[in-house]
Amino acid sequence: MGHGSDVHRFDSDTPCRLACLDWPSSPGLAGHSDGDAAAHAACDAMLTAAGLGDLGANFGASRPEWAGASGEALLRETVRRLGETRWRVVNLSVQIIGERPKIAPRRAEAEKAMTSVVGAPVRISATTTDGLGFTGRGEGLAATATALLYSVPA
Ligand SMILES: [Zn+2]
Repeated sequence: MGHGSDVHRFDSDTPCRLACLDWPSSPGLAGHSDGDAAAHAACDAMLTAAGLGDLGANFGASRPEWAGASGEALLRETVRRLGETRWRVVNLSVQIIGERPKIAPRRAEAEKAMTSVVGAPVRISATTTDGLGFTGRGEGLAATATALLYSVPA
Protein backbone atom coordinates (compact mmCIF):
# COMPACT_ATOMS: atom_id res chain seq x y z
CA MET A 1 0.00 0.00 0.00
CA GLY A 2 1.27 3.48 -0.78
CA HIS A 3 0.19 7.04 -0.18
CA GLY A 4 0.74 10.07 -2.40
CA SER A 5 -0.15 13.73 -2.46
CA ASP A 6 0.21 16.68 -4.80
CA VAL A 7 -0.55 20.40 -4.97
CA HIS A 8 -0.75 22.84 -7.88
CA ARG A 9 -1.59 26.53 -7.96
CA PHE A 10 -4.36 27.81 -10.22
CA ASP A 11 -3.33 29.61 -13.40
CA SER A 12 -6.19 31.10 -15.39
CA ASP A 13 -4.01 31.20 -18.53
CA THR A 14 -3.96 27.39 -18.72
CA PRO A 15 -6.76 24.94 -19.48
CA CYS A 16 -7.82 22.83 -16.52
CA ARG A 17 -6.96 19.16 -16.71
CA LEU A 18 -7.84 17.07 -13.67
CA ALA A 19 -8.39 13.34 -13.18
CA CYS A 20 -7.73 12.84 -16.92
CA LEU A 21 -10.65 15.13 -17.87
CA ASP A 22 -10.95 18.71 -19.19
CA TRP A 23 -12.80 21.18 -16.92
CA PRO A 24 -13.58 24.15 -19.17
CA SER A 25 -15.27 26.25 -16.45
CA SER A 26 -12.30 26.08 -14.05
CA PRO A 27 -8.93 27.85 -14.21
CA GLY A 28 -6.05 25.54 -15.05
CA LEU A 29 -3.33 24.23 -12.78
CA ALA A 30 0.22 25.49 -13.18
CA GLY A 31 3.16 23.12 -13.30
CA HIS A 32 5.87 21.72 -15.53
CA SER A 33 3.13 19.41 -16.83
CA ASP A 34 -0.63 19.71 -17.18
CA GLY A 35 -0.88 20.07 -13.37
CA ASP A 36 -3.24 17.11 -13.03
CA ALA A 37 -2.87 16.81 -9.25
CA ALA A 38 -5.19 13.78 -9.07
CA ALA A 39 -3.11 11.83 -11.61
CA HIS A 40 0.14 12.93 -9.96
CA ALA A 41 -0.98 11.90 -6.45
CA ALA A 42 -2.10 8.54 -7.89
CA CYS A 43 1.31 7.99 -9.55
CA ASP A 44 3.07 8.92 -6.31
CA ALA A 45 0.97 6.43 -4.35
CA MET A 46 1.57 3.58 -6.82
CA LEU A 47 5.32 4.22 -7.11
CA THR A 48 5.69 4.38 -3.33
CA ALA A 49 3.69 1.18 -2.82
CA ALA A 50 5.95 -0.63 -5.30
CA GLY A 51 9.13 0.73 -3.72
CA LEU A 52 10.03 2.52 -6.96
CA GLY A 53 10.65 5.93 -5.39
CA ASP A 54 8.27 8.84 -5.70
CA LEU A 55 6.86 11.02 -8.48
CA GLY A 56 9.79 13.46 -8.38
CA ALA A 57 12.41 10.71 -8.57
CA ASN A 58 10.70 9.14 -11.59
CA PHE A 59 9.41 12.16 -13.52
CA GLY A 60 10.72 15.30 -11.77
CA ALA A 61 13.10 18.06 -12.80
CA SER A 62 16.01 15.60 -13.02
CA ARG A 63 14.08 13.72 -15.77
CA PRO A 64 13.63 16.44 -18.42
CA GLU A 65 12.30 13.91 -20.94
CA TRP A 66 9.05 13.91 -18.90
CA ALA A 67 8.68 17.71 -18.73
CA GLY A 68 5.28 18.70 -20.07
CA ALA A 69 3.96 15.12 -20.03
CA SER A 70 0.23 14.79 -19.34
CA GLY A 71 -1.06 13.23 -16.15
CA GLU A 72 -2.46 10.46 -18.31
CA ALA A 73 0.98 9.76 -19.83
CA LEU A 74 2.54 9.64 -16.35
CA LEU A 75 -0.16 7.24 -15.14
CA ARG A 76 0.40 4.93 -18.12
CA GLU A 77 4.17 4.96 -17.61
CA THR A 78 3.80 4.35 -13.87
CA VAL A 79 1.59 1.30 -14.49
CA ARG A 80 4.10 0.07 -17.10
CA ARG A 81 6.96 0.40 -14.58
CA LEU A 82 4.89 -1.45 -11.99
CA GLY A 83 4.31 -4.24 -14.50
CA GLU A 84 8.05 -4.51 -15.18
CA THR A 85 8.61 -5.20 -11.50
CA ARG A 86 5.66 -7.62 -11.32
CA TRP A 87 3.30 -5.29 -9.45
CA ARG A 88 -0.38 -5.01 -10.33
CA VAL A 89 -2.87 -2.43 -9.07
CA VAL A 90 -5.77 -3.75 -6.98
CA ASN A 91 -7.42 -0.33 -6.66
CA LEU A 92 -6.76 3.34 -6.11
CA SER A 93 -8.56 5.87 -3.95
CA VAL A 94 -8.05 9.55 -4.84
CA GLN A 95 -9.27 12.55 -2.88
CA ILE A 96 -9.40 15.99 -4.51
CA ILE A 97 -9.27 18.90 -2.05
CA GLY A 98 -10.38 22.35 -3.19
CA GLU A 99 -13.22 24.73 -3.91
CA ARG A 100 -13.25 24.18 -7.68
CA PRO A 101 -13.88 22.55 -10.03
CA LYS A 102 -16.95 20.90 -8.51
CA ILE A 103 -16.21 17.19 -8.74
CA ALA A 104 -19.53 15.62 -7.69
CA PRO A 105 -21.44 16.21 -10.97
CA ARG A 106 -18.64 14.53 -12.95
CA ARG A 107 -17.34 12.05 -10.38
CA ALA A 108 -18.45 8.94 -12.33
CA GLU A 109 -16.92 10.31 -15.53
CA ALA A 110 -13.63 11.09 -13.76
CA GLU A 111 -13.54 7.64 -12.16
CA LYS A 112 -14.15 6.03 -15.55
CA ALA A 113 -11.39 8.09 -17.21
CA MET A 114 -8.78 7.28 -14.57
CA THR A 115 -9.88 3.63 -14.33
CA SER A 116 -9.44 3.16 -18.07
CA VAL A 117 -5.88 4.57 -17.93
CA VAL A 118 -4.81 2.65 -14.82
CA GLY A 119 -6.54 -0.60 -15.76
CA ALA A 120 -7.88 -1.09 -12.22
CA PRO A 121 -10.71 0.55 -10.27
CA VAL A 122 -10.05 4.19 -9.35
CA ARG A 123 -12.48 5.80 -6.90
CA ILE A 124 -12.57 9.55 -6.39
CA SER A 125 -13.82 11.59 -3.47
CA ALA A 126 -13.78 15.36 -3.11
CA THR A 127 -13.79 17.75 -0.21
CA THR A 128 -13.16 21.37 0.68
CA THR A 129 -11.27 22.86 3.62
CA ASP A 130 -14.18 25.00 4.86
CA GLY A 131 -12.67 28.14 3.39
CA LEU A 132 -9.36 27.67 5.22
CA GLY A 133 -5.84 27.67 3.80
CA PHE A 134 -4.68 27.92 0.19
CA THR A 135 -7.41 25.62 -1.07
CA GLY A 136 -10.08 27.57 0.80
CA ARG A 137 -8.79 30.85 -0.65
CA GLY A 138 -8.96 29.30 -4.10
CA GLU A 139 -5.23 29.69 -4.72
CA GLY A 140 -4.69 26.08 -5.65
CA LEU A 141 -5.84 22.52 -5.50
CA ALA A 142 -4.54 19.50 -3.59
CA ALA A 143 -5.01 15.79 -4.08
CA THR A 144 -4.11 12.72 -2.06
CA ALA A 145 -4.18 9.10 -3.14
CA THR A 146 -3.87 5.64 -1.68
CA ALA A 147 -2.87 2.72 -3.88
CA LEU A 148 -3.24 -0.97 -3.10
CA LEU A 149 -1.01 -3.26 -5.16
CA TYR A 150 -0.25 -6.95 -5.25
CA SER A 151 2.94 -8.63 -6.30
CA VAL A 152 2.73 -11.33 -8.94
CA PRO A 153 4.82 -14.38 -7.99
CA ALA A 154 7.84 -14.88 -10.26
ZN1 LIG B 1 1.72 17.58 -9.81
